[in-house]
Amino acid sequence: TADSAKSFFRRNAFVLFTIVAVLLGIILAFSLRPYQLTYRQIKYFSFPGELLMRMLQMLVLPLIVSSLITGMASLDGRASGKMGMRAVVYYMVTTIIAVFIGILMVIIIHPGKGSKDKLHREGRIEQVQTTDAFMDLVRNMFPPNLVEACFKQYSTRVFTRTVLHSTNVTAEVIPIPGSANGVNALGLVVFSMCFGLVIGSMKQKGRALREFFNCLNEAIMRLVAIIIWYAPVGIMFLIAGKILEMDDLAVMGGQLGMYTLTVIVGLLIHALCILPLLYFIVTHRNPWVFIAGLLQALITALGTSSSSATLPITFRCLEENNGVDRRITRFVLPVGATINMDGTALYEALAAIFIAQVNNYELDFGQIITISITATAASIGAAGIPQAGLVTMVIVLTSVGLPTEDITLIIAVDWFLDRLRTTTNVLGDSLGAGIVEHLSRRELDAQDCELGNSFYSTE
Ligand code: ASP
Repeated sequence: TADSAKSFFRRNAFVLFTIVAVLLGIILAFSLRPYQLTYRQIKYFSFPGELLMRMLQMLVLPLIVSSLITGMASLDGRASGKMGMRAVVYYMVTTIIAVFIGILMVIIIHPGKGSKDKLHREGRIEQVQTTDAFMDLVRNMFPPNLVEACFKQYSTRVFTRTVLHSTNVTAEVIPIPGSANGVNALGLVVFSMCFGLVIGSMKQKGRALREFFNCLNEAIMRLVAIIIWYAPVGIMFLIAGKILEMDDLAVMGGQLGMYTLTVIVGLLIHALCILPLLYFIVTHRNPWVFIAGLLQALITALGTSSSSATLPITFRCLEENNGVDRRITRFVLPVGATINMDGTALYEALAAIFIAQVNNYELDFGQIITISITATAASIGAAGIPQAGLVTMVIVLTSVGLPTEDITLIIAVDWFLDRLRTTTNVLGDSLGAGIVEHLSRRELDAQDCELGNSFYSTE
């Protein structure tokens, strides 16, 4: 009936707009491709997309800090400990499953044929030791300067890539974001959690700070509600710009094509079978209803290829559409977006073994275990920004003695696979929030009964 159609439309307006925008973006880009726009023209064209990216990134920093501090402060130490444990167990289990699927897929499909001569190389990479990279990971947890942590990540790696695009064959060297700069989210997460825990335990004395961060969080979420109106436009131009910029699909032929396919199959199995199944087993609820509520966040992840830029939208989808308790989202989402990257873990293990195959390098069981462990670490260390996974892959390759410069073999398709793994990452974080909420019902209810805590619940 007209009324129910209207209410359906109202409820799903954003998702519908976003889907239409994606389709429009694709159509627009393919109709413009024959005109061979120059790099500069493409940049002008996709400017509205760049603006969306900037707006979202602008909110990430205050969002992570305020939501984590409020989240931690609003739970008592024991409850947050329990929830934290559940979240960490979920992250570990899903990441390990993801790595396992990645390895299984690359071994079964075997996309690498032991001849890298046919593959096309892009960019340059510098050597780094696995130990250095591990130490960087830990170093980043303890930023010596909080202000610096807002814009800089510690890194001993220098990595540059060459962008080639169909229209402009002369190469251009740009540093991959995240190699040298970018928010040190891990450091901020660690700090905010500790800080939140402390002001939560300060009873009356900590009240002013708790109110401050709670209010800041509220205000940021209101800004998100405004930006969300612009999101479909931005996503349309982000996607269109990327399609205009991409190399001719010929590079996808042969081994690289098989490799791309292997990654896609692996990610699909993880995102559409394993994760929903896990959600169902734990909560006995329909995972597809939950995922439908997340659609806008998933499309944003696809458009921005950054799980941290998507974070504001993920928050909104979970809280508004799926009704996940704010005490959970505030606590679990920022941590998840920073350290829980199933797609990235799957990708890194798979890519490393692909590179071994291309080099005709036989990996023994021990080395495969090493790859699993380092891929997990690399996914934790990867920032939630575009193509960060490519940078942290150095850890995985050096750990088993594979040539790091062979990362350049897979750069050509990475922008695309990055979008898919980012979407998987966001899905993993969101289902995780749903699962942790379900498991923490008892603590949440107990807290609801206590006096004074209504302050933190959803108004
Ligand atoms: N772009 C991914 C993300 O933001 C990280 C990666 O490169 O794998 O989740």
